[in-house]
Amino acid sequence: MHRIDLETLDLAADIMHDATNLAIAARRGLPPDAIVQKPDGSVVTAVDVALQIYILSELERAFGRIPVIAEEDHHSIGGKFAAEAHCRALLHEWGFDEGESEIARLLSVGQFDGRARDVEDVWVLDPIDGTQGFVDHQHWCPCLALLRKGEPVFASNGYPTLAGGVLLSAVAGEGCWSYPLDAGDEGEPARWSVASAPLGTGAAVRVVAPSRATDAQKDARRLVGEASGHPCTLVHADSQAKYGLVILGEADIAYSRRGGGPGNYIWDHAGAVLLAREAGAWVGDVDEGPIECGLGRRLVANSAVICAARGLGPTVARVLAERDRSENLPPPRRERA
Ligand SMILES: [Mg+2]
Repeated sequence: MHRIDLETLDLAADIMHDATNLAIAARRGLPPDAIVQKPDGSVVTAVDVALQIYILSELERAFGRIPVIAEEDHHSIGGKFAAEAHCRALLHEWGFDEGESEIARLLSVGQFDGRARDVEDVWVLDPIDGTQGFVDHQHWCPCLALLRKGEPVFASNGYPTLAGGVLLSAVAGEGCWSYPLDAGDEGEPARWSVASAPLGTGAAVRVVAPSRATDAQKDARRLVGEASGHPCTLVHADSQAKYGLVILGEADIAYSRRGGGPGNYIWDHAGAVLLAREAGAWVGDVDEGPIECGLGRRLVANSAVICAARGLGPTVARVLAERDRSENLPPPRRERA
């Protein structure tokens, strides 16, 4: 099985840097009819689909063909003619002129549905995580991870709305690096570390809540924050931007619970799990165990993805574990995975 040389992954970070900047420009000229609903009711745009095609094409050119788990497919904007036309126009503008059969192929390659744990290398791509935020001029982020035998070994997420616009990239064991999105060849990546010192007496703990959080969701997050013994303020974001806020020091705690559902999609978490860990954040589940990214398209074994700075992780895990028990939700299932 084809195995990517980890020393060459700067190329993948370059691709994500360019792709994020292309998406920023495309956002400025996004026509209303390029924004459509998926069959599941969620919002998607021509930019999501064009960017996935562009990124996968560039990754293939740099690294050859390996299995891919990606969010978009033929159904995303298929049959929405104005959105499809805008997608083709963007691809042409970006120098992709390979024709419809190549577009169709690239839109089908992201459907790997096996266990990444059983495969050498798998890309995990969400071309735009937080499309609703992209549409609403809130947070959004192109997110790429590489799994090796199911473990994230590389990640590169573009964060146009955080820290003035940065790309965060990490290789397992080599730290997390930030790079300004508006820098050209003269820019230098800088090692990035999460704040580890405990919060000072009386300082507020900042917990990320969804952009359109219900009162119940806000109350739940305040309880998690206040369990730290500090007053709590809420910061609002969806998508992997919530973990980006913690990594970049604009929040202290972010988490996503599974609840009673089938498990979150791995493309909403995998990259940030590695970025946060490499930056020194606490990343884990309610039992303080690891996040299992190698079991398929969803995080079927995990109850939550928790990301915390300043030593707050175990407190968050304890509070969320208590809540799962009170709601009769099962514990993490990795022993049966
Ligand atoms: Mg997406």
